[in-house]
Amino acid sequence: MALDPLVDIGRKVWHRCPHCPNTDSLYLLKANANLVYVQCPLCHDRWWLDTGFGVGGRPEQTDVPLS
Ligand SMILES: [Zn+2]
Repeated sequence: MALDPLVDIGRKVWHRCPHCPNTDSLYLLKANANLVYVQCPLCHDRWWLDTGFGVGGRPEQTDVPLS
C-alpha cells in the first residue's frame, strides 16, 4: 500500500501505531470532530483514531478494524 494522496507530511499526530513497531507519529489525513483519519508512515495502515479530546482519558482501544 502506498501513502495516501491526502497525506500532508507537515501534519502529524503524535501517537504510536498499534499495527507495527512505529511508536513515533502518524500522518494526519483528515479530521472529524474528535476523530482523525491517520496513516502510519511505516506500515502504511490507515484507520480512524479517537483523539479523546474533551473525554478525560485516552482509551487505547480505538482501533477500528478495516475488513
Ligand atoms: Zn504502523
